[in-house]
Amino acid sequence: MFYLLIFLLQMKLIKIKTDLIKAIEFDKRLGFVPTMGALHEGHKALIKTSQKNCKKTLVSIFINPTQFNNKKDFKTYPKNLKKDLIYLKKLKVDYVYLPTVKQIYWKKNDKIKLNKLQNILCAKFRKGHFEGVLDVLDRFIELISPQKMFMGEKDFQQFFLVKNFIENKYNTKVYICKTIRNKNNLALSSRNSLLNKQSFAASEIITKKLLKLKKEITRNTKNYKKLIFILKKELFKNFDIKIEYLECRNTHNLSTNILNKPFKLFVAYYIDNVRLIDNF
Ligand code: AMP
Repeated sequence: MFYLLIFLLQMKLIKIKTDLIKAIEFDKRLGFVPTMGALHEGHKALIKTSQKNCKKTLVSIFINPTQFNNKKDFKTYPKNLKKDLIYLKKLKVDYVYLPTVKQIYWKKNDKIKLNKLQNILCAKFRKGHFEGVLDVLDRFIELISPQKMFMGEKDFQQFFLVKNFIENKYNTKVYICKTIRNKNNLALSSRNSLLNKQSFAASEIITKKLLKLKKEITRNTKNYKKLIFILKKELFKNFDIKIEYLECRNTHNLSTNILNKPFKLFVAYYIDNVRLIDNF
């Protein structure tokens, strides 16, 4: 415990808002990586990108209650603070901010509402989720004023909404970082630790099939609806999963207009009571 304390002392660990404001007062080229903890190589990639592009890097760990539309999901969200702090220390992160709910939600803000066009994919299935994400990031950016913020492509819809919202309101620029995957192409996610061995292996096979589907759709875009339908049928037959959505969307505006346009295949499904999302 003593050695852990000494080790961690070299990294500025901040819990109080006023301490944070003081610590970063003169950091003009600050990079910000917001996380909910249970850190993995996906988070590491964002941190490394921030370190390459900014003078100092601040990582927050905050499991934001307002973005959970399901109490059980909030309660069971993976936590491992001790391990996370050692991980961040090894990465030579300058600041780690660990606020309490009270510190973040100290004032009432105007309600954030998504419009009809934005109410798609995860927004459609997780009511209030992105409103909670935008609200918490609004509060973080107001407090931290980073020059740059880094987010993962794995949560592409989140990146898309946040970039638009934050860059309209603040001087902060929001950057996207590629999805980090394991050797079998499963996207790393804090939630993967909630899967049992069998479901983990099944998710890897499903990912392989989705990657193949993306290739097929790229070759034969006109028939994308039929190709999706066929794979959905196969997945239902062979796996115990509940698919929330499996859709192609235009990467520029998330519309369904994908013919001769850059697009991504988006998926969200439940396996072993765990909700996984990805895009290809
Ligand atoms: P989370 O802690 O899950 O809220 O994620 C914090 C940030 O890490 C978000 O911007 C995510 O998109 C990003 N992230 C999560 N998983 C990955 C991954 N496998 N590759 C790249 N970025 C990721």
